Amino acid sequence: MTLIDGRPLAAELRQQLAAAVSELAATGLEPTLAAVVATPDPATEWYLRSLARAAAPAGIVMREVGVEEGDAGGVIAALDELSADPGVHGIICLTPLPDGLDLAEAGEHIAPAKDVDGANPTSLGRLAAGLPAFAPATAWAVLEILRAWGTDLNGAEAVVVGRSTVVGKPLALLLLAANATVTVCHSRTRGLAAVTRRADVLVAAVGRARLIGAEHVREGAVVIDVGTNATDAGGLVGDVDTAAVEAVASAVTPVPGGVGAVTTAVLLGNVLRAAGG
Ligand code: NAP
Repeated sequence: MTLIDGRPLAAELRQQLAAAVSELAATGLEPTLAAVVATPDPATEWYLRSLARAAAPAGIVMREVGVEEGDAGGVIAALDELSADPGVHGIICLTPLPDGLDLAEAGEHIAPAKDVDGANPTSLGRLAAGLPAFAPATAWAVLEILRAWGTDLNGAEAVVVGRSTVVGKPLALLLLAANATVTVCHSRTRGLAAVTRRADVLVAAVGRARLIGAEHVREGAVVIDVGTNATDAGGLVGDVDTAAVEAVASAVTPVPGGVGAVTTAVLLGNVLRAAGG
């Protein structure tokens, strides 16, 4: 079995991005990403730092917009304002959000043309209808990894475990658009292992440490681990028990260093596209 290291792919995507951004800079345009932060949270701060680290060398400007804690109206007002600001090309809204406001509701206040992380339900609808739209960066990162790995999705059995609006559902749509035969599993799926064992491509997007073991994987399958679960020791593990799956899968993405690494590069690429690059 091979570990699919996402970092070289992320580096390649960032390099392509930097080249395209510098071309755009000649026209005086600076692709700008605004991040609305409603609730200070260690995971959010870590994510913002890693985004900023990747954005700066690529020439993407990042603007962090803080909102008073618990102020749902403030989040909506900030998103409306940024949507109307011609100097902002991409907008993301970071979770956790204030009580009473969910991401889909907040996402409705991100202009679809600037919705670089596919948070507006309109983006998901357009994706379902086969119209141009931004997909959530994580879902698109999975497709980028499969493409780079040379996985033929045409007619392949793809099983996605997880049906969230941010990962599972858009990913199922992207796999379908790539001509895979797609099955989506969730917490009520009966006989999970029997379903996942059908997969040529198995994607775990659950949020349960090491849920996917050898019994869930078909011989030779490519396994993509989207899950990120904090360990008591302060580390990060995925949804896949990589050591157990090693004997059956042909390839598995590691956590960290797999999907997460590529997600950031994809998101910044979407900012460039939103800026017209
Ligand atoms: P979520 O909204 O909590 O959704 C989890 C999904 O898993 C739900 O559809 C749930 O089913 C399903 N599920 C829960 N327990 C299950 C079980 N025992 N068997 C089968 N399905 C089960 O989570 P999410 O936002 O999609 O995130 C999923 C994971 O991806 C998390 O670990 C998150 O941290 C990670 N993530 C990573 C990135 C990245 O860039 N690497 C980005 C986003 C998220 P029900 O619908 O029936 O409840």
